[in-house]
Amino acid sequence: MEYNIVVGCGFSGAVIANLIADKLNQKVIIIDKKNHIAGNSYDYRDKNNIMIHKYGSHIFHTNNEKVWSFLKRFSDFNNYIHKVDVVIDGKKVQIPFNFNTLYQLFSETTAKKIKEKLLEKYNYGAKIPILEFQKQNDEDLKFLAKYVYEKIFLNYTIKQWELKPNEIDKTITSRVPLCLDNDNRYFQDKYQGIPINGYTNLIEKIINHPNIKVVLNSDYKNFKKQNSELIKNSRIFYTGSIDEFFDYEYGMLPYRSLKFEFEEHNKEFYQSCACINYPNDFSFTRIHEFKYYLGDKSNKTMIAKEYPQKFKFEENERYYPIINEENIKLYNKYLKKAENFKNIYFLGRLGDYKYYNMDLAVLRAIELFEAIKFNVI
Ligand SMILES: Cc1cc2nc3c(=O)[nH]c(=O)nc-3n(C[C@H](O)[C@H](O)[C@H](O)COP(=O)(O)OP(=O)(O)OC[C@H]3O[C@@H](n4cnc5c(N)ncnc54)[C@H](O)[C@@H]3O)c2cc1C
Repeated sequence: MEYNIVVGCGFSGAVIANLIADKLNQKVIIIDKKNHIAGNSYDYRDKNNIMIHKYGSHIFHTNNEKVWSFLKRFSDFNNYIHKVDVVIDGKKVQIPFNFNTLYQLFSETTAKKIKEKLLEKYNYGAKIPILEFQKQNDEDLKFLAKYVYEKIFLNYTIKQWELKPNEIDKTITSRVPLCLDNDNRYFQDKYQGIPINGYTNLIEKIINHPNIKVVLNSDYKNFKKQNSELIKNSRIFYTGSIDEFFDYEYGMLPYRSLKFEFEEHNKEFYQSCACINYPNDFSFTRIHEFKYYLGDKSNKTMIAKEYPQKFKFEENERYYPIINEENIKLYNKYLKKAENFKNIYFLGRLGDYKYYNMDLAVLRAIELFEAIKFNVI
């Protein structure tokens, strides 16, 4: 009997388990150290019947047809379109920064002048990463670049990463570019929405297969000790942090963590949209209001304030890999070591030490499955 052990039951673990169980008709055991499935995208209904995203707001969005058609087999998605506001000098305006934001912030004359200059230089619809936008010669565009950088990006980035925007990887700072259009959607992907019964339900459906067994509250290290023979004769798909797998032999990979403070409010809505960013005020970065995602009806509401934190071993969760040259070098050392191990595969946000959105975690699992020659055991 060929066994497959999947460590971690987030999107990455669930998808690879499903493909092995379904397409190869092989047995899979998924273990997870948490007391629930769905990893970081875990959600649950609270006492007011509001679906709460325990580890922060998760909005599904993708342009990838393969990922979309895979997930749609397990759940429908609603038509939720994510919109985000940001508070600047006490005024709430929309982000990503676009022409609407320009008119919300400045007088009609100033906004019109700046818009015309932008359209002389760039095409309508252009998306410009904030650091690239800093390179301006024109005085008005220089003013705008400095304003957007200082009021929207600088302090948010410092709070989030304890680093300045130019000290973090460009792939991160370019995630929310300046958009020279009037499209107020936070994500512009072709497909977006929330699974109609939530993410936990979606993952439950993905792993609901006679060949899949799930063991919760089970850390890989203990599981390995208690099942050494099984481990020797199985393929391992590891979606935990790769440094942990190798007992931190070369040192610990750095991550950022978050703390969420949940508050129940005795009113129908707390704020005007699901997510409001506070770059400059308070020590939290944003406030999430969960009932917007599935349109939950209640005369109460639940919000969460999000506080960035350093990741501290065994004290809080690993959330975001800190991508820079030094950390990638360290990750590559682990990757090199992993090449010596037959039948162990790393994937996912922690296993690959990459800032994957949910769709990319799914795609990575599908592509890994397609790449493995499954007759190697
Ligand atoms: C705050 C926040 C907001 C986000 N918002 C979005 C969003 O809006 N849209 C989007 O597309 N993406 C979003 N993401 C990204 C999304 O969370 C990830 O893409 C997704 O969680 C990746 O799934 P995964 O399975 O790779 O990792 P995870 O979901 O983290 O799953 C890994 C699992 O492995 C388990 N595990 C780890 N080590 C061990 C071990 N030693 N033994 C047993 N089990 C172990 C963990 O308990 C966990 O359940 C967000 C991420 C964060 C941090």
